[in-house]
Amino acid sequence: MKLIQFSFTCSRPVPFYAQLCNDYLANQTLEITIGYDKNRYLIEAVGTQPQLEALADQIAKDFLLSIWLIDSSIKEIRHREGRVVPLITSPHHLPFCSYCEPALGDNQSELFGEIAIACSHCHGETSVEASIDRQQIQQWADSVINTGHVSFSLPLANNHQHEFHLSRGPIAAANRQRQQVIICNPNNVPMHFIVPSLHVLALSSLEKPRVTVRPKQHHGQLDQPLYDLCFSYNRILTVLTEMLRVRGIDYLHIETNHLQPLVARINKGWSQVCSDPVIHPLVPFKSVEPLHDQACINGLNAYWSKRRIRFDYQPNHTNDAPEHALPICALHGGMLESGVGRHSAAIYFGRHAAGEIVSQDKFTRTDTFLVMPTLPHSGSEMIAVLAAGEQAEVLAKFKHQIPVSYNALNKLILNECNDHLSGLFALAATILGLSKSSQDNVQYLNDALIAKSLQNADNKGHRVDFSLDMVDGKRTIDWAKMVGSLMSFCLVVDEVDYDKLAFGIMDSLADYIANWIERMDETTGIKAVTLAGSDFANEVLADRICLRVGKNFPIVANRKLELDGSNLSAGALFLKMRRR
Ligand SMILES: [Zn+2]
Repeated sequence: MKLIQFSFTCSRPVPFYAQLCNDYLANQTLEITIGYDKNRYLIEAVGTQPQLEALADQIAKDFLLSIWLIDSSIKEIRHREGRVVPLITSPHHLPFCSYCEPALGDNQSELFGEIAIACSHCHGETSVEASIDRQQIQQWADSVINTGHVSFSLPLANNHQHEFHLSRGPIAAANRQRQQVIICNPNNVPMHFIVPSLHVLALSSLEKPRVTVRPKQHHGQLDQPLYDLCFSYNRILTVLTEMLRVRGIDYLHIETNHLQPLVARINKGWSQVCSDPVIHPLVPFKSVEPLHDQACINGLNAYWSKRRIRFDYQPNHTNDAPEHALPICALHGGMLESGVGRHSAAIYFGRHAAGEIVSQDKFTRTDTFLVMPTLPHSGSEMIAVLAAGEQAEVLAKFKHQIPVSYNALNKLILNECNDHLSGLFALAATILGLSKSSQDNVQYLNDALIAKSLQNADNKGHRVDFSLDMVDGKRTIDWAKMVGSLMSFCLVVDEVDYDKLAFGIMDSLADYIANWIERMDETTGIKAVTLAGSDFANEVLADRICLRVGKNFPIVANRKLELDGSNLSAGALFLKMRRR
């Protein structure tokens, strides 16, 4: 007889794992103890070798992969850590699991299309709309096959509706965001998209998140630089996509008012960019006591109660922190996970405030080291600035030799992104000739730049200039010099090698940032650097910064909290600032 411990270490609570621990405690004939501490789930059992092997097989089948799982292990132990007390669980909202999904979602199964079947493992039947049956789903599938598209809506809690519009062709989104795709045939994903193996695992994980990937080059239908992919994430979509898979449809474009969480690979783990609080309520977590009881940013309200930070959704609430303080909120949000408050820095490149690099010293005084340059709102204004300065000569050559890119620059409109990293990258993408029409928005241009840099296979790029400049007493990047340096490269680099230039933009910026953080270290002493903001969903940039900054400083990426959402709300609870 041996005492064996199975352990699952996660970067945030995984409610389904807690339920599984309780199920094993209640149902197993072996002497089981379970435990949970600091996001680590334990199951311990005494038994003979064959009994324990059978248990290991069962656990391997039941513990579906979570994107938040960092490490799992099986080892022989001498003393139990766990107890015979059930864990406190929160609802997991899992629609299906490895037991019921094959039964209701495989067209060869007798129960195919029976979306209401009860499952003793996940209880996914509780979140199913009873009025929808297999015939209804078959009609929707027929509509896709006959007309190319279908729209339907499913009721959600609190009188919300979950609207779906599925189409074989691209859907013209009103807000011109990145196109969304749902996969019908997971086996054929490599025929259409370039998906790294870790991203494939994430797609099929418990959380069914969205990941951002490139389409295959020269794909007949997929002409966008990047797409957000997801697998089916409810029982109705599971049946519908299976019906379509059998008819040879590998994927569909999808538009919906409630998206699955978008995740990105940062510093060897997954981080969530932001979430939809209506369908994915945020799990409370333990924290040190904050300075404020409550702080709402962008409708997501964080509050302190019973020694935990909790969240609710208050869409009409005004922000409790001014925009310029959000990078400091991101710094505090990083501290909540790393435990490093004093002597820390944060790089905020996101959608809610100007890009900044900020720090906190040993007296918890915060300071801004660098702000992103405030670019003119339009390309034509930028051209006027360049023509009047040191870049006049290279601009004239660029206009003469690469008129298409020059004209695209002349039509570029940045709007309110002009002091975000995404604004600077949209400008860079335009100079590289990645603009396809005058309708291109900042999102498209950023995606085009990322896709181009992903094409660079050998991780070597040209060195683009990101020199420092002082404007209005603030340290910033000399954007005109950067544009001049990029235009000079375009004049001498063959267009087939522009992938090295796109990669070089991100790698050079990462290298400059590494140098700046070293300068901050000399005055402030830096023990950790937090990466925050939605632009870190750019995995090339994240990767280069982790490599170059991470060489000398520990990198923090939020896992429990989001990159550009709950990290700001929770961080705002620690803001040293008088409020309203
Ligand atoms: Zn199930």
